[in-house]
Formats: sequence, C-alpha cells, structure tokens
Amino acid sequence: ASQDEVIKQKESLSNELRCLRVELQQVRDDRDRQVTQMQALTAEIVKYKEFTGKSCAELDNLTIKSNALEETCSSQREHIRTLQHQLTAANEKLKMADLSASETRTEFEEQKRTVCELQERLADAEFQLIEGEKLRKKLHNTILELKGNIRVFCRVRPLLPEDGVGTEATVIAYPTSTETLGRGIDLVQSAGQRYPFTFDKVFSHEASQQDVFVEISQLVQSALDGYKVCIFAYGQTGSGKTYTMMGRPETSVQKGLIPRSLEQIFQTSQSLQAQGWKYKMQASMLEIYNETIRDLLSTNRSSGLDMSRTENGAPGKQYTIKHDVNGNTHVSDLTIVDVCSINEISSLLQQAAHSRSVGRTQMNEQSSRSHFVFTLRISGVNESTEQQVQGVLNLIDLAGSERLSKSGSTGDRLKETQAINKSLSSLADVIFALAKKEDHVPFRNSKLTYLLQPCLGGDSKTLMFVNISPDPSSVGESLCSLRFAARVNSCEIGIPRRQTTVKPMDNRLSYG
Ligand code: ADP
Ligand code: MG
Repeated sequence: ASQDEVIKQKESLSNELRCLRVELQQVRDDRDRQVTQMQALTAEIVKYKEFTGKSCAELDNLTIKSNALEETCSSQREHIRTLQHQLTAANEKLKMADLSASETRTEFEEQKRTVCELQERLADAEFQLIEGEKLRKKLHNTILELKGNIRVFCRVRPLLPEDGVGTEATVIAYPTSTETLGRGIDLVQSAGQRYPFTFDKVFSHEASQQDVFVEISQLVQSALDGYKVCIFAYGQTGSGKTYTMMGRPETSVQKGLIPRSLEQIFQTSQSLQAQGWKYKMQASMLEIYNETIRDLLSTNRSSGLDMSRTENGAPGKQYTIKHDVNGNTHVSDLTIVDVCSINEISSLLQQAAHSRSVGRTQMNEQSSRSHFVFTLRISGVNESTEQQVQGVLNLIDLAGSERLSKSGSTGDRLKETQAINKSLSSLADVIFALAKKEDHVPFRNSKLTYLLQPCLGGDSKTLMFVNISPDPSSVGESLCSLRFAARVNSCEIGIPRRQTTVKPMDNRLSYG
C-alpha cells in the first residue's frame, strides 16, 4: 500500500513535473518572444532617439527663425502703425488741401471775374482816354488857332565854367507869382535895373532836354497830322541854340530837339500804321551862309571848310528856291534823302555836322555863322479812309544874333555878320508884316525867309526859342534877344491849318 502510495505519489509528481516542464518551456518561449520584442523596441527607441535629436536641432533652428521672424514682424507692425499714422495724417492733409483747393478755386473764379471786370473797365478807360486825347488835340489846336500867334519859348542855359563868373553874379530871375509862374523871366542889370518879360514858356537853366522836348512834342505831332511846322532857335552865339536843337545826338540825355522829334515821328508813324496810315519821310539839310544855300547832304562836295569860302556850294549847283501852288517848296539840286529808320537819320545828322561850316569868333569857336535848316517832309496816306496828309517839320538853328561890336569882326567876318544881321532882321520884318497883315510881306529879302515862306504865317505853326546866356557880360545881348522875342510873341500871324486832301482846301497862302 505504501509502495502503491509512493508509486502513486511518484506518478503524480512526474505528472506535475511534466506539466511544469511544459510550463517552463512555455515561459521560455514567452521570454524569448519578449526578448525579441524588447530588442525590436530598443532598436525602435534608438531610432526614435536619433529622430528626436534631429528634431530638437531642427526645433532649435525653427525657434531661432521664429524669434527672428517675430522680431521682424513686430518691427513691421511698428512700421505699419507709423505708416497708418502717416496715412491718417496725409488723409487729413489731403482733406484740408481739397478744402483749401476748392476755396482757392472759388477765390480764383472770383478774381477771374474781377480781372474780367477790370479789363472791361480798362478797355473802357482806354477808349475814353483815346477819345479824350482826340478831344485834347482838337482843343489844343483850337487854342492855337484862336491864339494865332507865333509862340515863343525862352531857354536860359546854365552858367558854364568858361563864362568865368561865380554863381553869385545872377542876372536872371524868375518871378514866382502865380500868373507868370513858368512863363516869366526878369533880366537884372548891374545898376539894379530890372526888365520883366513873359513868354509862352520859360525854361530855367535847370530844364533838361526832355523837359523842353515835352513842351514841343505836340507841335512835332502836328507835322504828322499834316501841318507845316517851323521851330527856330534864336539867340547870341554861345547861348545854347545848337545845344537846344541838336544837343549831343549820341547821348540819350543830352540829345536835342531834332533827334528827339525824329524819334517821336518814327514811333508815332509806326503806331499809326495800326490805323491804316503809311508815312513816307524825306529829309534835307542845308545851311544859309552869306545868303548862299549850301547842301549839307551833298555827297560831291569837297572838304567842308574850303567850301565855306566858295560862294555857291558845289560848283554848278544853283539851289534855286521855288514854291508850287500847293505851298510845297523845291530847292533845285538839293539832296533829298528818303528816310525809313531812325538810324539813317542819325548818320545823316553826323554827315551834316561834318559838312557844316564853322567860323571862329571871340565868343565861341564852335559858333556857327550860318543858319542851319533841317527839313523833314512827311507824307501820309490812310488806305482805309483814303485820307492824305502832307506835313513839313522845319527845325532851324539860326546864326548868332549878336551885334557887330561884340564879335570883334573885321573883313570876311564883318561881311558874315552883316549877312546874318540882314537875314535875321528880314525874318523879323516878315513876322511883323504878317502880324500887321500887310499886303506885301518881304519874304524875298533874304534866302531864309524865302525858303520858309510857305511855313511862315497862314497855314503853319511856328515856335521860336529864344536862347539866353546867364553870363553877366551878355546882359546887353540878352536884353536885345528878349526884346526881339517879346515883339515876336505879340504877333498874330494867322490860323494854322493842316494840309489834307480829303476836303478840298482853299489856297489862302499866297503872300509872296
Ligand atoms: P550856340 O549854338 O547858341 O552858339 P551852343 O549850343 O553851342 O550855343 O552852347 C554853347 C555852350 O553851352 C556849349 O558848350 C553847350 O554845350 C553849352 N550849353 C548850352 N545850353 C546848355 C544847357 N541847357 N545845358 C548844358 N550846357 C549847355
Ligand atoms: Mg550853334
């Protein structure tokens, strides 16, 4: 039994052992599987670790990048904000600008309207001015017609260093009372004797060439309107006749009436072109020396001073004066030059100055012993109105008016002086005869008066400058000049009329 028991036990144990062995095998298998699994997992872990390392580096990189980007981003955000600020400011400004632009536009419109209005008013005013100017001219002419006399202007030249006196030795005074202001002149002799004179205008030594010209420009203008105009300069040698008439043509301030008149005539004739006027001008220049006409523009003259000894200017030339029925004067053989520009005139003036004979007296070696006559014939045609005008402008620088003793003349000079005195007294005779309306006017008594016959009296406008020297040693001559001028000033010699061919005119100028 016990053996059985034990066998039984042994059997059960063997069984158990078998079971356990199986179990063990199972566990071993299991372990192996686990080991493999673990190995796989380890490998996987390694792989993952590697991967993770890479990722970390990458992450670091990315973090840096992202930081940088964030920085950029924030700075850009800042930038955007400032830009936005600026934008709003700009918008604000734009709005303001728009506002002010529209304001400006309205203002502009308003101003445009004002300008238009002003322009209209200006045009109106200009029109009125032109009308007024026309009226003024008409009235001016009417006044001259009513006055009908020769106008006389007196001009006193300044004291010159060569006069050899100080300014304290004043012999000229200008009355200041209102009725003679600018028209009166008193000559005071050393004894205190005072001789008052009044003229149409008195120019003191302070008057400039322009001041003088302003007063005669109207007269020059009337030559363009078809009048015959004579402007004389009378006075003793050295009193400023040549300065007044010619001055220094090359300087703008000192040029005299002749260059200024020509300039004005050219300018006005050009501006009248707009109204349809076409002008043609012809100039001649002559001098009358010892009752002989000499052509100052002749090109075939021999040298100037020699010629002054020849009685007849260029040989074979007669220079005969003739007047036609229309009151136009012709001098045979006289050079007549068509002038189209002011430049031509100035070269003519130079040519004339060169050929002018100049004598010497004790008083002024530049003094001219001849009468200088510049004549500008102006003929104008208006194509739209078919009006024609023919004007003449004579500018005459007379020879010195001094009496014999003062020039200390003998011989040839005596003859010259006598010729001058004769022709000046003939001029006076003509003026006084015209004034007295005498039947016979002695135009033919001298070449000068005969030459100027159509331009003296009747149809013409005459102005005489009496030039006065303020030098105390000239008081005697000045008194003579002023007395002569005063007599001339009191003359009424007719009514100036213009020569036009639209209305037929009666030829009432037949004195000679
Ligand atoms: P005239 O021709 O009467 O003999 P001028 O015209 O030759 O006299 O003048 C004599 C001098 O006086 C010249 O030297 C001239 O320059 C000078 N003269 C004349 N008038 C004036 C003036 N208004 N202003 C300055 N100088 C003058
Ligand atoms: Mg002179």
